[in-house]
This record gives sequence, structure tokens and C-alpha cells, in this order.
Amino acid sequence: MDYKARVHVEIGMDFPEDPHEQLWGAVGAVFNSWMNQRAKTYRQLHDIPESWGTAVNVQAMVFGNMGSDCATGVAFTRNPSNGANDFYGEFLVNAQGEDVVAGIRTPQELTIKARKSHGSDLPSLEEVMPNIFRELCTMRQQLETHYKDMQDIEFTIQQNKLYMLQTRTGKRTAHAALQIAVDMANEGLISKSQALMRLKPELIDQLLHPTLDPKAKKQVIAKGLPASPGAAAGKVVFSADEAVRRAKDGEKVLLVRIETSPDDIHGLHAAEGVLTTRGGMTSHAAVVARGMGRPCVAGAGAVQVDYAAARLSVGSVTVQEGQILTIDGVTGEVILGEVPTVPPQLSGAFGIIMAWADEYRTLQVRANAETPNDARQAKEFGAQGIGLVRTEHMFFDGGRIIAMRRMILAADEADRKVALEELLTMQREDITELFRIMDGRPVTVRLLDPPLHEFIPHTEAEMAQVAKAAGVPLNRVRRRAAELQEANPMLGHRGCRLAITYPEICEMQARAIFEAAAAVGKAGGAVPVAEVMVPLVATLQELSILKEVVEKTAAAVQKEQGMNFTYRVGTMIELPRACLQAGKLAEQAEFFSFGTNDLTQTTYGLSRDDAGAFLPEYKAKGIVEQDPFVSLDQEGVGELIKVAVERGRTARDGMKMGICGEHGGDPASIEFCNKVGLDYVSCSPFRVPVARLAAAQAALKLRGEKALQPSTKAAKPLQPAFGPW
Ligand code: PEP
Ligand code: MG
Repeated sequence: MDYKARVHVEIGMDFPEDPHEQLWGAVGAVFNSWMNQRAKTYRQLHDIPESWGTAVNVQAMVFGNMGSDCATGVAFTRNPSNGANDFYGEFLVNAQGEDVVAGIRTPQELTIKARKSHGSDLPSLEEVMPNIFRELCTMRQQLETHYKDMQDIEFTIQQNKLYMLQTRTGKRTAHAALQIAVDMANEGLISKSQALMRLKPELIDQLLHPTLDPKAKKQVIAKGLPASPGAAAGKVVFSADEAVRRAKDGEKVLLVRIETSPDDIHGLHAAEGVLTTRGGMTSHAAVVARGMGRPCVAGAGAVQVDYAAARLSVGSVTVQEGQILTIDGVTGEVILGEVPTVPPQLSGAFGIIMAWADEYRTLQVRANAETPNDARQAKEFGAQGIGLVRTEHMFFDGGRIIAMRRMILAADEADRKVALEELLTMQREDITELFRIMDGRPVTVRLLDPPLHEFIPHTEAEMAQVAKAAGVPLNRVRRRAAELQEANPMLGHRGCRLAITYPEICEMQARAIFEAAAAVGKAGGAVPVAEVMVPLVATLQELSILKEVVEKTAAAVQKEQGMNFTYRVGTMIELPRACLQAGKLAEQAEFFSFGTNDLTQTTYGLSRDDAGAFLPEYKAKGIVEQDPFVSLDQEGVGELIKVAVERGRTARDGMKMGICGEHGGDPASIEFCNKVGLDYVSCSPFRVPVARLAAAQAALKLRGEKALQPSTKAAKPLQPAFGPW
């Protein structure tokens, strides 16, 4: 089919000969492009309001197809893929822009260097039109000097004269964005602080995880929440045990659950990634996966899981256990089959940007970590301490949960003491290891927090296992498990309420912490300042009672060990009442750490585990702009934090305050924390570099520095813009 016939098919009429008709047709096509699917998706991805509309410029045209002294081309002033300071582009002699992208003819390289490195036989622009090439190089220089950023340009050569058609800030990969920012600062084109301000912190996240190969084809079958970044592919399994079993045999598995519970932690660890059909961004699966650096897509509601039949389905697509799925934790996509990934690349520019960020930021950055691996990872990423050790996570693993269950289900104190002894040994070893790794940096250890039902065995087999381990009749275990069921466990017997009713748990944990500090000191290591943190406090009395237990234990351990060490007792602020009572709490608390996951839950009256079911609709209807579990609700939760900071510091001058909810790794929330005067943010290890950059930007913004952000969607090289997209 010739060109005219093709056009006829496409527009349903002969191509108009009347220039006015052509012009109006072209203008209409540009306006219509605002509503095409590609544009709509682009707007959604980049938060561009529909109401903006688009504009059309009408101007005289130049022609690159009037003979061999004409050409057209597109170029990036630097390599958009790796950021190298190379002129990067293509051109065609005697052609129009459309021909470059249509793939009808093979485009030629701009430079001799590129031609040689790509092994092309076709001469470069530098060889074909050396004068024009020099002029284009000058233009490249001028544009970068003027815009102070890498440009994406389109040009046409008409009868040996160069015309610039368009310039705009060039899209680039995350890797290139860092390289270009560092290079431009080193070249003196921009300042260090400008280099920092133009990098979206989220970019750093992309660098730390494998990502899907952008060139790969993919069949997306469902979408959930992008709960933990990175891409993962594996054979679908529906239970944590199966994940572990297959992983031991060397298989890559993807754990698919309706929702996850603490029992699944070993499976999360063994799996390449996790997919859940229920739960939001702070659901158990999401928090744990982020902590471990495992990709996670949560709350993919369209996916129906049938555990009994070991299969899942989405519409007409059925996936059996053992078949392969891929998840993309950045987009939330669930993809059929295996999509190839590209490994993370941590270039020299990454280290430089991090060092520059550290020069500017005033907020400290700590990590939430409880395993040695997480702590090492956090330290490697620059964490200045641990802001939250969720001690319960230490008890989820394999055999340990038995001791925990035995302790919870104990019928009397004697039985509980035996289980506590066992737990003490484990807890002390774990905390000693964390202290050793953190090498003198502060470590905040939180007392047991979750509702006990999370540890209670659900199946007969598990109850029988506990009965056997504890040497008690199965019936007693069943009865106790039934007693501990709660209608509303997140607001039930959890947090400090556990330690109030079972002070021996608090005593065991405090002992483990202090004995660990002593052990590290005696082994010649740097003795950490142990921070003991009490969760879910609502009243001063709760804190006073538990502080006394901790202090007594500290005194006992110091005496037994014959050494003194510094420690602090503080509280999490996770309840609106605690915010309002912050002045009183500060009489006893030596530090505050805002647990904004629970504080959001309790302020909004919104279950963090169930919100995923309707929040997308809330977002779509504009009721909330952002998932408040992802980005801090500054107007509501934020106001409470402000009150608590002010009242707390009035009562205790210079009191140390931080945040350890998931918001501690969210750039907008970090900016808020900086503004209200918190001392540190604490986040998952893999968010630490993001938080370092976001903290630097927050400090710079307070100084009046403006964000200067180029578009950083993955570069699509060499596509001239016909229409706005
Ligand atoms: C919080 O509530 O913000 C917090 C850090 O505690 P968790 O997520 O363990 O409840
Ligand atoms: Mg909490």
C-alpha cells in the first residue's frame, strides 16, 4: 500500500489538497491527541490535571527532504541512558522527522565515535556535513548553558542550513539522572545544591533494586499497590512453607497470599517477591517486604486466590501453583510469565550524591531493622543508627515461634518463666549482634507490640505442636487460644498493655537489651546507647509503671555485670491521646518516636490492613489525594505531631524526637518532619538513601532553594514529538 492509500485508510478520506484544510486537520489532530489513551495514561502517571488542555503553535515549516543537502535528526545533548557527556543522536539525509522513527530507513549516527562504537557502515553527520555538525555542537553547548540541563532536541537541515525545531529537558534513566547532575555540578554549570534539588528521591529507589527490562514484552493481568520496589519473577506458591521448601531446592518462587501474617515471615524471606490480594501499603506483607528489600505488590483485588485448589485466577486467566508470574513493585503490575530484569547499578555518582546530601541535611537518618542482614544493609546505605527494632519480628522465625506461643499460652507463671528463659537467650543473642553491627550508633529497641492473636496457632497441628513442646494437654492450648481471641485486636491487648499485664515480658526484654550492651562492652566493642521504647502508650501511668520495670532491670544487670552503661527509656507516640498528653509523657519519656502507621490508623479511624479495599476509590474521587499510610496526612496527623512536639519540648527542653512509621521513608513526609523540628527519621534499610537525599532537599527548601526537576521517566531515545507526547 502506498503512502496515500495508507493515509486514506487511517483518516477515512483522501488526503486533502487544500492547504487550509490540511492546517485545520493538523491543528485538530493535536487538540484531539490530548484525549487519546496514551495522553490520558501519561497524565495519570505524572499527576497532570485534565483541565490544563494543550496548545498548538502554527509556524512555517522547513524541509529535510528536499535533496541530498537536506537532513533531519533528533538528539540528546548527553547520553540519556548512562548519562555520559556524549552527543547522542541519529539523523537521516533527505528525510523528514517521521522517517527517523518509522524504521523504514536505518538512521545514521551523529558522531564518528558513535559510528565506530556501534560498528555502523553508514557515515556519520560529522563526516557527511562537517560544518553543520560543528554548528550543531555549538548549539548543543549553548542550549545546555542556557537551560542548565540535558536537552532533547530536534533539528532539520534544509539546503545546508541548520534549523532547530524543538528543545526540551530530556528524559533519562535514574542512572543517567545522577551522573548528569554530578557532572554538571563538577563542570560548574549548576551548584551542588541544585544538583541535589533536581533529583527525585524516588529515583534512588529504582537504582537499588533490579527493575524490569524496559525492552521486554509483558502481559499484565492485574494491578495492585506498588508496596515494595523492584521486580521479581518466580514460580507461584501459596504457602510460606511451600516457598521455603522450593527455595531450598534452588527454585525461585513468588509467594502469593490473600494477606500475610507473621507466620509467613519465613516464606517472605525465601521468596523472590510477594503478591497479596488484600492489604494496603502498611499491611504486614508490605512492611516486612520493604524491610527485607523484597519486591511486593499488595492488595491486587482482581486476583482470586483458591488455596485449596492451589491456583489463582484473574478473569479468564488461571495460574496454577508452579507457574511463573512476575511482579513489578514500582508500578504494582502483575505479569504473566517471566519478564527479564536488569540488575541495579550503583555508580560512582550514587556515592557522590549521597555524600553531598549528607553535607546539607540536618535530619539524621536511621533504619528500622531487626535482623543482622537488615542492620548491615542499613549501615552500608548510611544509616546513623536503628530507630526501630520490632522485637516481635525476632520471634517469628521457625522454632522461635514455638517458644513465643508457649509463653503466650502458658497456664501459669512457672510455665511462662520457662518459655521466657528460652526467649531471653534468643533475644539477647539477636540484640548483641545488632549492637555489634551498629558499632556504637544508637539502637532503639521496642518492647513487644503486636496483638497476641498474631502469634496464636490457628490450626490443630500447630496447637498440638505447642501442647507437645509445653508438655500440656491439647485441650488447654485450645481453651487458651480461644480466650485470647479479640474482636478488634489492633485496638486490643497489644503494645504497652501487654507489658502492663505481663510485666515479666518487659523485664525479660529489658534484661536482654542490657545484657547485650554489657556483652558488647566486655568483648571490647563500642557500647551503644540502648534506647528502650514503649509502644502504644496512652497515659503517663502506663509509661511510669514500665519505666520502673526497665530501670530496676538496668540496675540489676549493671550490678550483676559490674559495669555501668547509658540507656534511655522513651515512648512511641501512636495514639491521638499520646499527642495531646505529650507534655505529661515527657516528664517520664526521654525520647519520642512517632509511630505514624498506628497514629494514622487511630487518627483517621482507618484500619491500615483493610484500607486498601476502598482507598483507590477515595483517591479516584478526590476524597484523599494520597494514601495517608504512604504520605503523611499533614493536615490531620501532622497537626497532632506538631502539638506533641511543642508540648513535649516545652516539658523537656531539647528532647530527642524522631519518626519510625513507614512515612519516615517518604520524601514529602520527611520534609514535614524536618519542618516541625524532628531530629531523625527512621525507615526501611532500602529507603535510607532515599531519605538521605530527601532530608537534604528538605533542608535546602527551608533555605529557599527551589526544586529543579527534569523529567525522569525512563528515556525513550530518538522519538521526535509529533503532538505533545
Ligand atoms: C507505627 O505504628 O508507626 C510503627 C512504627 O509501629 P508498627 O508499624 O510496628 O505498628
Ligand atoms: Mg505501631
